[in-house]
Amino acid sequence: MDQTLSPGLYIVATPIGNLGDITLRAIEVLRGVSAVACEDTRITGKLLNHLGLKKRMIRYDDHAGEADRDRLLALMTQEPVALVSDAGTPLISDPGYRLVRHAREAGIAVTSLPGPSAAIVALTLSGLPNDRFLFAGFLPVKDKARRDVLGDLAAVPATLVFYETAPRLGDSLAAIADVLPGRDVAVARELTKKFEECRTGAPAELAAHYAAHPPRGEIVLLIGPPVDSPVEAVDADAMLRAELATSKPSQAAGKVAKRTGLDRKTLYARALELK
Ligand code: SAM
Repeated sequence: MDQTLSPGLYIVATPIGNLGDITLRAIEVLRGVSAVACEDTRITGKLLNHLGLKKRMIRYDDHAGEADRDRLLALMTQEPVALVSDAGTPLISDPGYRLVRHAREAGIAVTSLPGPSAAIVALTLSGLPNDRFLFAGFLPVKDKARRDVLGDLAAVPATLVFYETAPRLGDSLAAIADVLPGRDVAVARELTKKFEECRTGAPAELAAHYAAHPPRGEIVLLIGPPVDSPVEAVDADAMLRAELATSKPSQAAGKVAKRTGLDRKTLYARALELK
């Protein structure tokens, strides 16, 4: 082991597809640690193998319990330990924040080595405004919950960034077409890989495209900010329509008023018209 690394936790970003996307420092630290905590030992094993490294791997995934965490924390007080995820930056829609919190509380040295993250790669590629963005992880699987989240975020004056899966892209685009029809949308797929693609357009156009060409691979979905902040009239209508599918006009108006800050009475009158 490289004796120059002090004990502690080293958060190490790894490639999101192209194995060349790893920093010199990440390789140096992976070479120097005594163990690598990872989600899936097969996936991380492949990366280590590619780098010509043989390391003890310790599984730390979504199912890890307190005992697993405590064992890792105890090791970090004595040895340098890396935390990696299957791909990209650990903790970004990946396990680890509790580990970091406990390590910090225990006075263990924690450092983070920057590198790829699909959200940032997609944001830079999309051509959407990036002075303000909100990363919102994965949209819910259930349609009503997904529409609620889109409604909740409708007034946020920032580009919205979601992680998405290929089988659910069509449903998500259909929901966006209903709830936020006037927005610019980007679908960034297979980033840094051979079939990298970034397609932009109106949500309905993209929904039609991917209905005809079912996507494969990994996806980041981005929604541009409202054109006239805080809320476009069209967005308020869409939110009301979405709510009216399951609620009475008064309830729909109440929910949309709460989310957008728009006048409840005006929304109620509009809900009656739309009903
Ligand atoms: N921690 C990772 C990061 O920093 O990007 C993200 C982990 S999250 C569990 C996995 C999701 O990231 C995928 O479902 C997909 O939405 C997105 N993702 C990861 N790699 C990607 C790629 N090469 N192209 C597009 N999206 C990707």
